Parts: sequence; structure tokens; C-alpha cells
Amino acid sequence: MQNSEEPIADLLDRLAAVVPDYPRPGISFKDLTPVFADAEGLKRIVDEVIAPFAGRFDVIAGLEARGFVLAAAGAYAAGTGMVTLRKKGKLPREVHAEDYLLEYGTATLELHRDDIAPGTRVLLLDDVLATGGTVGAAVRLVERAGAEVVGIGVVLELDGLGGRQKLAPHEVHALQRV
Ligand code: AMP
Repeated sequence: MQNSEEPIADLLDRLAAVVPDYPRPGISFKDLTPVFADAEGLKRIVDEVIAPFAGRFDVIAGLEARGFVLAAAGAYAAGTGMVTLRKKGKLPREVHAEDYLLEYGTATLELHRDDIAPGTRVLLLDDVLATGGTVGAAVRLVERAGAEVVGIGVVLELDGLGGRQKLAPHEVHALQRV
């Protein structure tokens, strides 16, 4: 990074929207769509979210839906392929499926069985790490395919929710902790 460049935390403070009480009272929703919509913002977050893992991954997997933005752009920049980890029922062929806990009930994340070959080094990307339940399911999916999770990159990490601890010993890199 050049010295004259705005620190990434300042860029995120300037561009990300925080929506109080969405989708429920008490939740402070971090909306990164204005960062995606800004030319410099998109380039900075994509470049910086993949940088710590440079040269160590063969493919980037993105979590539906905002993780797709980061994973597709990151894969293009790094010259790798991109894999979609999708919510239940969206993928048309044979899948691996992993359930994870939500505040109320469970949800399921799926991966096409042949989208990642055994032994592939996979970087997982998502926008926000909260409790780590969603990324945890993604890690299990990749491992069920016989592949290796080399790291987890997120733009924002919500402190105090235990996400990073839940994902240990996997390497987690966040551009900003809030
Ligand atoms: P997690 O609790 O880590 O499984 O988070 C679940 C998903 O919900 C992640 O993919 C995040 O994109 C999203 N998410 C959770 N909490 C927030 C929040 N406060 N603001 C924005 N997105 C969130």
C-alpha cells in the first residue's frame, strides 16, 4: 500500500452503511453494497482481502450471496477459478450439504460434488463474519470434498461473537474488526 492511500478502515467507515435494527430490533446490519458500488472501494476490498493468501490457493469459494462478489472479483484478479457455496436447493446437480445453526432453527449450505477436486487449496470469502456458523459450514463442505481450506477472508469481523474462535485453527483475515 502506498503511504498516500487512505487506510482501509477509513475507507470502510466512509463507504459502508450501518443500518440499526435490521433485519430485527437489536441487530446493527453492516451493509457493504455501497462499497461494492464504488470503483475504488470494490478494488481495495478485493485486492486486500486476497492479499494475505497470495500464492497459497488454487480456487476461491464464495458464500451466497455477497461472498460471490468478492470471490468472483478475487478469482479474476488472482487468475484462479471461483466456486459457489449456495443455499439449499439452488444447485442442480449432486451436492454435499452441511447444516448450520441460525438464531432460530437451522439452514443448509451446498456445494456441487465435482466443483472442487480433492487436494485443491481453497480460499473462502464472505462479507461479514459474525458467529462463524455460516463459514463453519463452508469449511466442512470443502473438507468433505477432500479439499483443503487454506484461509478465510472477510471484509468485516464482528467482535465478541466468537466467530474467529469457532473457526480455529483456520487462518482468518479481516480487513476491519468492528
Ligand atoms: P454468521 O453468524 O457468522 O454465520 O453470519 C451469517 C451471515 O449473515 C454472514 O454471511 C453475514 O454476511 C451475515 N451477517 C450476520 N450478521 C450480520 C450483520 N450484523 N451485518 C451484516 N451481515 C451480517
